[in-house]
Amino acid sequence: MWPRLRKSCRTWSIVLSITLLIGILVVWSWKKREDENSRNDYVSLRLLNNQRDYIDHKGVHVVVGHYIGDSVDPMKAPNITKDLINKNMFDPRPFEGKDGNPVLVPAKDFYKMQQLFQINRFNLMASDRIPLNRSLPDVRRKRCIMRYANVGNLPRTSIIIVFHNEAWSTLLRTVYSVINRSPRQLLEEIILVDDNSDRDFLKDTLDEHVKNLKVPTKVLRSRRRIGLVNARLLGANHAKGEVLTFLDAHCECTVGWLEPLLEAVAKNKTRVVSPVIDIINDDTFSYTRSFELHWGAFNWDLHFRWLTLNGRLLKERRENIVEPFRTPAMAGGLFSMNRDYFFELGSYDDQMKIWGGENLELSFRVWQCGGSVEIAPCSHVGHLFRKSSPYTFPGGVGEILYGNLARVALVWMDEWAEFYFKFNAEAARLRDKQPIRARLELRKKLQCKNFEWYLDNVWPEHFFPKDDRFFGRVS
Ligand code: UDP
Ligand code: MN
Repeated sequence: MWPRLRKSCRTWSIVLSITLLIGILVVWSWKKREDENSRNDYVSLRLLNNQRDYIDHKGVHVVVGHYIGDSVDPMKAPNITKDLINKNMFDPRPFEGKDGNPVLVPAKDFYKMQQLFQINRFNLMASDRIPLNRSLPDVRRKRCIMRYANVGNLPRTSIIIVFHNEAWSTLLRTVYSVINRSPRQLLEEIILVDDNSDRDFLKDTLDEHVKNLKVPTKVLRSRRRIGLVNARLLGANHAKGEVLTFLDAHCECTVGWLEPLLEAVAKNKTRVVSPVIDIINDDTFSYTRSFELHWGAFNWDLHFRWLTLNGRLLKERRENIVEPFRTPAMAGGLFSMNRDYFFELGSYDDQMKIWGGENLELSFRVWQCGGSVEIAPCSHVGHLFRKSSPYTFPGGVGEILYGNLARVALVWMDEWAEFYFKFNAEAARLRDKQPIRARLELRKKLQCKNFEWYLDNVWPEHFFPKDDRFFGRVS
């Protein structure tokens, strides 16, 4: 009896296993088909990398970080109405954009998505699907974690975020990322400066919302459009923290971002320190860690450029990869600076309008007047890079940008200003209109070094002409 029973048991178990296997296969193929279907239902937005880069004629790898395109009044874009612009369409879906992953917008919303893109010149619909406290990967090197573990003696900072008609989701994700990823004891306050926005949701709704945040947050408002320099000045004048930390209104800070900035400034108040600026994609909102060995400089047009370190400098840096390194110029939107030093050094050039040039002005001033501009490789903050600017430039883009750059050249660049104006007719046309006496007096008062010193000592690899270098056409 027993052997017979054992035999029939074995037959049954074989039949059962085969049935189970077939079942699993059926469910698996059904699930796979469903996944494929749902994927077809979505449009992957993993489009182009939005940073243009190229190898220049000298073999230098150049990444174009800032690009200013034509600015179009969003009200004039097709089908954009005042109601649409004023509507807060923030509609977060749990886990959308989690860990910095790209957002998938359903295909049925594709048309609407393109329409909304015009408002801020980034994928507003994608942004509005991501929760304010989305997670991001910890992109630091392991050595950074131990290096900055002790926050006991670091100074407190005021975070200053200026904005003009920013989207609700990007603005508040900036704020939430600061609150969620900074040691609480290092945050004095958050100051939002509204540069005369006209969106309804940026008024009372914003005031009400910030009342409930875990870090004291205030909104300062300008009743006329003052541009980013004067908006930052407004914030700085109200700030109580020992250190000022400026951020653009569409950033996301990663864990450990603040400590390296504050430590460098605390060690020496003349250090002005930026994080590594990672890339938030303007189409998908995916988070991409950027190369830590980029440094900032500028071309003959005085347009900011990212360059990669190479040769001797690269070798030096690799040996000491967690310590801040010096850079000839900063991108401008994201940096920490001791508050007293900020004012001692002449804060900002308040004659600069709307946008542009202030990053070079501050970089030259810091270097030539005795400080240093640095990048802290352990500090990573994402910034949303756009291909064009969404707002109006009252008076015209050229007038504003080249007016600002003419000021930079006239105040800081000595003989090299002539070189700049020779190649930039638009800036040359504006040079005589610039009241610069106060800034020249500041330069004298601070006993700043000349531009030749800057070129020789801060950026010896520069490609500006000098006595030993000729520039021009051989005919
Ligand atoms: N901004 C401002 N007023 C202006 C222009 C810009 O407050 O008239 C703010 C803007 O909202 C952003 C920061 O200044 O937070 C830098 O501008 P933007 O991000 O457009 O410059 P980019 O990062 O593209 O160089
Ligand atoms: Mn920006």
